[in-house]
Amino acid sequence: MSGFVIAVDGPAASGKGTVSSALGQAYGLPVLDTGLLYRAVGLAVRRAGEDVDDAAAAERHARALDLGELDVSALRTLEAGQAASRVAVHPAVRETLRAFQRDFARQPGGAVLDGRDIGTVIVPEAPAKLYVTASPQARAQRRWLQLQASGEAAGRDDILADIARRDAVDSGRADSPMRPAADAVLLDTTEMTIEAAVDAARRIVEAARARWETSR
Ligand code: C5P
Repeated sequence: MSGFVIAVDGPAASGKGTVSSALGQAYGLPVLDTGLLYRAVGLAVRRAGEDVDDAAAAERHARALDLGELDVSALRTLEAGQAASRVAVHPAVRETLRAFQRDFARQPGGAVLDGRDIGTVIVPEAPAKLYVTASPQARAQRRWLQLQASGEAAGRDDILADIARRDAVDSGRADSPMRPAADAVLLDTTEMTIEAAVDAARRIVEAARARWETSR
């Protein structure tokens, strides 16, 4: 790996997407939201009328995925998020998506990837690793505001329940569970504005970049 890679992990609606885009802008790096890949597989399985818990069906859809053709607005719904966490437990699905993520990380200029297992499995050698969290209540509130803005009506209680369910599935699965890498810096954004979270993330990454530059 020759470029500077920033791995950003954490649970749903923790702020990791916003932090990742800001870091991508700040360092001029391409950003991959890896959750979109799992969402696309989950939605494809559902749209084909198949079962997200069926590992063979999910693997088939993961292999057939056209990564250049992701319809991002359809992928941001609650339904796609739920389907994503169900297909993401299948090792064959994870393996199918792994090569694409690793290739993205190994672009010569570097990259930012956000997800659940970036710092632990996809690029454990990344010089900068963040684990972004926030309380379930703060995350539910943010997701509610986002869904409202995109015109999807959902109650706060339903969103909180969805977050709790996904956290449990994501941290409880056997293959690549959601957890901070041993050398990740934790960033709890519960009490932070977006600007404060981005500033804090930039300071963490600046320190990592300085270490990375002196070690080269
Ligand atoms: O980040 P986002 O909420 O879009 O992710 C949707 C789902 O995809 C997560 O709940 C998780 O189950 C799965 N995922 C994963 N590994 C990643 C990214 C997402 O398992 N690196």
